[in-house]
Amino acid sequence: MTSPEPIYTLADLDTWSFPGTALAVLGHPIKHSISPPMHNAALAKMAERDSKFASWKYFRFDIAPDDLHVALEKFHDCKRFTGLNLTVPHKIIACGLRNVAVTPDAAPIGAVNTLMRTEHGWNGFNTDGYGLSNGLRERFPDFKFDGSEVILLGAGGAARGAAIELGIQKCKRLWLVNRTAETRDQLLHMLEMTWGSNGPTVQILDLNNPPKDLATNPLVINATSAGLKPTDPLPIDLAALAALARPKGVYDMIYNPPETPLLAQARALGIPAANGLSMLVYQGVRALEIWSNATVPVDAMREAVAKAMAAR
Ligand code: NAP
Repeated sequence: MTSPEPIYTLADLDTWSFPGTALAVLGHPIKHSISPPMHNAALAKMAERDSKFASWKYFRFDIAPDDLHVALEKFHDCKRFTGLNLTVPHKIIACGLRNVAVTPDAAPIGAVNTLMRTEHGWNGFNTDGYGLSNGLRERFPDFKFDGSEVILLGAGGAARGAAIELGIQKCKRLWLVNRTAETRDQLLHMLEMTWGSNGPTVQILDLNNPPKDLATNPLVINATSAGLKPTDPLPIDLAALAALARPKGVYDMIYNPPETPLLAQARALGIPAANGLSMLVYQGVRALEIWSNATVPVDAMREAVAKAMAAR
């Protein structure tokens, strides 16, 4: 059984009517999203403490990228939604829209995943970094960010947000790996411009030409989409890496499928590994805190995503 939440479209918004406080996730596609059961489970729990949350509900909408601007106007002006989550492909597009004011924390990332209604439009936040650091702490409780070395796979929006968060958490050095050298170099340049001499050292990792000073036990974070499909190539060969420096852990932001080829390889090599479900939960926790200004029940959200994944 999949999530019971229906999938709405822009056309549904024209006749939309909901008497309570409405929240929603917008994406294209959106069929895969388990954010509705996760947030609605939290809201049900919050309603036990404060009855006002009994009238809050979280929906999901399939919105094409070209329709995002007009959709955000409708969600704001006519339909009065309180908060929105944005997922692929809207996170970067939203930053260029005039009805979205990007908060200073999200500006260096250039992507927003959480919108909070204001009088005139939307404030745009990025809670993925909070999700990543808290998700990592939950899955790798012995990992200390301060002074650590991380191998970051990918150079898209998720990698950019992860890099900024790893800088905030005082990682010592980031090693960048990406399929396309050009986008990897753009990320390197962006991080150097953002941090100057006040952030982690950022270097490119090429396993065919390995550096002599790679840390003995780096943490590996996969922020690529490689692994969404079973035929995808590995974003890094962990066996080749382990011959140089055995990772202390591998965290894959992908959570569906629950075990990517990268995580399977980590387990086969006996390297601690975790998928991105904990990140999903904590980015959602932070978003719901922003919208509700209340304490959010993490356990209810964790249980709801586990149930939604088991039902797939
Ligand atoms: P994106 O902006 O489209 O970036 C995709 C990245 O993956 C790029 O670096 C791309 O490399 C690389 N890539 C794509 N296909 C590849 C392949 N076959 N082999 C090697 N590299 C490949 O996407 P994104 O928004 O950063 O998201 C990346 C992943 O993070 C997605 O799987 C997403 O679901 C996941 N994510 C999870 C959470 C969570 O809460 N758990 C939150 C955010 C994102 P090129 O530069 O070469 O194209």
